[in-house]
Amino acid sequence: MTFIRTLNGDMAPEELGVTYAHDHLYCVPPLWKEKGIDDFMIDSVDNSVADVKLFTAAGGRSVYDATCIDYGRDPTALKEIADRTGINIIATAGFNKAIMWPGTMPGKGVTFGDWIASKSRAELKDHVVAELTTGMDGTDLLGGVAKFGTGYNTISEAEDKVMRAVLDAHKETGSPLHSHTELGTLILEQLAIVKQENVDPTRLTIAHVDRNPDHWVHLKAAETGVFMCFDGISRIKYHPESILIECIFNLVRHGHEKQILIGGDIARRTMYRNYGEGGLGLGYILESWVPRFIEQAGDAGFDGEALIHTFMVENPQSAFAFTQ
Ligand SMILES: [Zn+2]
Repeated sequence: MTFIRTLNGDMAPEELGVTYAHDHLYCVPPLWKEKGIDDFMIDSVDNSVADVKLFTAAGGRSVYDATCIDYGRDPTALKEIADRTGINIIATAGFNKAIMWPGTMPGKGVTFGDWIASKSRAELKDHVVAELTTGMDGTDLLGGVAKFGTGYNTISEAEDKVMRAVLDAHKETGSPLHSHTELGTLILEQLAIVKQENVDPTRLTIAHVDRNPDHWVHLKAAETGVFMCFDGISRIKYHPESILIECIFNLVRHGHEKQILIGGDIARRTMYRNYGEGGLGLGYILESWVPRFIEQAGDAGFDGEALIHTFMVENPQSAFAFTQ
């Protein structure tokens, strides 16, 4: 059986429609809140709903919200956004990265770091399985993806334990997997651990691969069958769009178009249109980036519209599927 687990229940993969594969529609990261970094506070359902309406007006239907508990997940707020806009939202079980773990864990009164250190791999697995099958954060809302993450060229002992526990939770539930890479580092090292744990790489999506626009690394990763999320669109401070698009063409030329996903990783008020800062907004990819990609793909000899359909409609149907 194959299905997508959304905050409004399980559904057939074909119902997803145009999907952003890594965004943050609502998040109040405990650590950034404690440090008073306001730009990271995506904390208004009304403002997020206004941006989601830009996404739906441009043809969007579904969003994978990549926010784990350590990045300030709020399943109830996400469900309200889904209910008010009609989009499907897939929420996230598991954990992000150790950078966030000095933050205080909601409901526990200790830091994530201390809590994780006090748990065995099996206990962490049980925690993630419960998020996927019982509910997240005291609600009955279920995670639809299990996530883990690593640092900038670092995998701490705690991250290694969490990663293996999340892989165990995947084995128990059949959930899809998603991983954070810091600036696209350690893509191949994550895949080595996935292989060591006998997990099928085709069940994993690696995020932020475009922060490290290294054609050789991308091809090595793609040869394992893993999904690769291009979610740095509009982040010119890292790389211009032309670099990202050339990375995508490189993968397509080598026959890996069925492993590419597209998202915005919108997680700052300055990136939203309706958080008072006048950013590009949640519609930007569909409004502006997709037409540009189609034009450049045509110039390069590809059918850009067909590729976009593959990346944004077809590939999410398998990348985000539970298989049981
Ligand atoms: Zn993200």
